[in-house]
Amino acid sequence: MAASYQIIDHVYDAVVVGAGGSGLRAAMGIAEAGLKTACITKVFPTRSHTVAAQGGIAASLGNMGPDHWTWHMYDTVKGSDWLGDQDAIEYLCREAPAAVYELEHFGVPFSRTEAGRIYQRPFGGMMQNMGAGPPAQRTCAAADRTGHAMLHALYQQSLKYSTDFYIEYFAIDLIMVDGECRGVIAINMDDGSIHRFRSHKTVLATGGYGRCYFSATSAHTSTGDGGGMAIRAGIPMQDMEFVQFHPTGIYGVGVLITEGARGEGGYLTNSQGERFMERYAPSAKDLASRDVVSRSMAMEIREGRGVGKDGDHIFLNLNHIDPAVLHERLPGISETAKVFAAVDVTREPIPVVPTVHYNMGGIPTNYHGEVVTLKDGNPDTVVSGLFAVGEAACVSVHGANRLGSNSLIDLVVFGRATAHRIGATLKAGTPHQPASKAADDFALGRLDGFRNASGPASTAEVRLAMQKTMQSNAAVFRTTEILEEGVGKIDAVSTRMAEIGIQDRSLVFNTDLIETLELDNMMPQAVLTMHMAHARHESRGAHMHEDFPNRDDANFMKHSLGWNRDGKVELAQRPVHEYTLTDEIEYIKPKARVY
Ligand SMILES: Cc1cc2nc3c(=O)[nH]c(=O)nc-3n(C[C@H](O)[C@H](O)[C@H](O)COP(=O)(O)OP(=O)(O)OC[C@H]3O[C@@H](n4cnc5c(N)ncnc54)[C@H](O)[C@@H]3O)c2cc1C
Repeated sequence: MAASYQIIDHVYDAVVVGAGGSGLRAAMGIAEAGLKTACITKVFPTRSHTVAAQGGIAASLGNMGPDHWTWHMYDTVKGSDWLGDQDAIEYLCREAPAAVYELEHFGVPFSRTEAGRIYQRPFGGMMQNMGAGPPAQRTCAAADRTGHAMLHALYQQSLKYSTDFYIEYFAIDLIMVDGECRGVIAINMDDGSIHRFRSHKTVLATGGYGRCYFSATSAHTSTGDGGGMAIRAGIPMQDMEFVQFHPTGIYGVGVLITEGARGEGGYLTNSQGERFMERYAPSAKDLASRDVVSRSMAMEIREGRGVGKDGDHIFLNLNHIDPAVLHERLPGISETAKVFAAVDVTREPIPVVPTVHYNMGGIPTNYHGEVVTLKDGNPDTVVSGLFAVGEAACVSVHGANRLGSNSLIDLVVFGRATAHRIGATLKAGTPHQPASKAADDFALGRLDGFRNASGPASTAEVRLAMQKTMQSNAAVFRTTEILEEGVGKIDAVSTRMAEIGIQDRSLVFNTDLIETLELDNMMPQAVLTMHMAHARHESRGAHMHEDFPNRDDANFMKHSLGWNRDGKVELAQRPVHEYTLTDEIEYIKPKARVY
């Protein structure tokens, strides 16, 4: 069947899949090194989720007070709850200032201080003096549109270095031959044509998999396609149990309502109208830390005090606040609530639910962006020809918990590192191996399978079952019982992929088919997230386990690795890199993580 497709061939030195902050930075750097480069993206580059980032990008410029890259490193290690690899964290924090100045020269319109320097704001967990304090102003910002500004500047730069863009092309699978990556197979979503991109180096920059959950602040396109492709290529995923939640995403749509809403006096209530945060955090109440508020909300819902028809969310009340104050201080939120929840905040509460915000886990790489796997006992074995960057990757600099503003800097520092590595190891115009029929058949056979699927279930139905299972069993409130139930439920949901039937057999602009391919990428990652959470018998960073409330460094200061081979899960551990990159800083030893 697969052989019946007409394949259009493209030959490149390197191919980048993804045009968010990480993919664009990698693509422009590779092209700048003189290599023939393609960038494939399923959405227009400036529509990638990076565009939604508001707060800013961390780097120790020291424009607003004393700062040093070693202080940034300390905070990142502590934020990661000692699960981050310290060689990679040193690289990130040391390179961060240069990466931000580079963005400035690329044309990012950063906000400015009186003296004309890049403006920097304080952010959670960012301190001076190796954690001792006071807070450091380290987060560089372009008003509240930092991601937007970055993405536009990077897209313009990539055009300058003549990267070839393939826009609204959907990458289906990697071309893997003898464990080596030789490119990707993609479909042009507009006309259904099939394209084979042959390359010596392939970079996955496909973003997070937040859409595995019912409520996520990320774009609908954040379906972890890179992870899906890697899993099918036999590559393990790393640390998937670490998922960051924000307490107040709008119920059902996931759009973020900033913490500032509670800062201005907003409070949460349950179905009995009770301000329940007074019970969980008597002094900080609604302004306790994100993980505490999220977990309290989950407790209320689980104990039957959620609001709404299904009792599965919570109310955020702003209606007691003077409308003039709402108008002045929270205009964006008032508008967001109206557009996305049809709520007039001066009269009614906003329906909210703890919402997935960021995936710390992903495709394991080293600090050059090279994908690594466990082979012959060595967990740092490089997969030839394959790289991963950005939220799709797990370097790991965020470990068990990412600090705000550390993701944007991760995108550009490791996007750049990847470009450097590829530039240094590949000669332009190196001849290609012959194409592999087996790899084509693998990708196109799978495409055909879904195209002709005639089962009783719709893609939307199976996706919803997955999202609801993840939201109720792999969210912020985790116990052995909930996770055991979750493993059974998600394994059962994943078998329903075989029950899917799609209506449209065509390849041309067939959103049902594309959404099915996306679901097939998400499902094995949902399964791995649940299994890894179930296997981690401790509490660390974003993984808070009620039955194992303490961190257990002796048994679990280890990365989780997980394979998913046709629904069969296999788990292993990978040692955390307990060493730094240079002698300029010593390994930061584990301590209790208190703020
Ligand atoms: C609402 C929100 C606010 C945030 N605010 C901040 C902040 O202030 N500071 C901070 O540091 N972090 C923030 N983050 C996190 C940060 O923005 C993201 O982690 C980061 O932007 C991800 O970038 P990326 O390059 O990995 O991927 P993305 O920007 O998600 O881009 C993914 C790219 O991959 C392409 N793609 C995916 N699958 C395929 C496929 N199959 N075929 C072809 N192309 C494909 C897409 O088209 C897209 O171009 C925020 C996140 C959210 C959701």
